[in-house]
Amino acid sequence: MRQPQIDLHRLLTDVRELVETESPSTDLDAVARSAEVVARLGAAHLGAPPERLVVDGVTHLRWRFGSAPHVLLLGHHDTVWPHGTLDRIRYAVTDGVLRGPGCFDMLAGLVMAFHAVAALSSPEGICLLVTGDEELGSPSSRALIEAEAREASAVLVLEASVGDGALKTARKGTSMYEVEVVGRAAHAGLEPDKGINATVELAH
Ligand SMILES: [Zn+2]
Repeated sequence: MRQPQIDLHRLLTDVRELVETESPSTDLDAVARSAEVVARLGAAHLGAPPERLVVDGVTHLRWRFGSAPHVLLLGHHDTVWPHGTLDRIRYAVTDGVLRGPGCFDMLAGLVMAFHAVAALSSPEGICLLVTGDEELGSPSSRALIEAEAREASAVLVLEASVGDGALKTARKGTSMYEVEVVGRAAHAGLEPDKGINATVELAH
């Protein structure tokens, strides 16, 4: 079998460009700008532009090669890092360690996917979905992910491995709840027994 050739210099150049395009999930304009960089890098490697899927203002990207069932490569381009983090943590490669906001989660994974697919003799049978709100719990991309995953023969998520190189094969889920607790106002001096403290009730 032919050994795919990966160009490490180009791989790092691509990661650097993404790291230096800040993409905090809550800034939809920043996420849209980041999506354009991902689209351009991906098109350069894959030979085709992505579909841009804007849901609730969030820009997601999808490349599909050939018809389903696909092997789905799943990633995200938003990060948890607020604007200005780059002033504190610059992109750097020191003693073999890459640093920069979002490089671990999961910009390097995205770039590796582009390089890996480009190294295949053909991208036929691959779907690459890159979402823009994963760090918020995927509120606008969940339906997209579920629809693609349902059609897929396998799904590979591009989260980086841990320190010893162990592959991540499962993730915990998250749930978000909004709890509203309402108390009852009463005069503290005249009729304190009629009051209900919402905080104390919530603690109970
Ligand atoms: Zn991630």
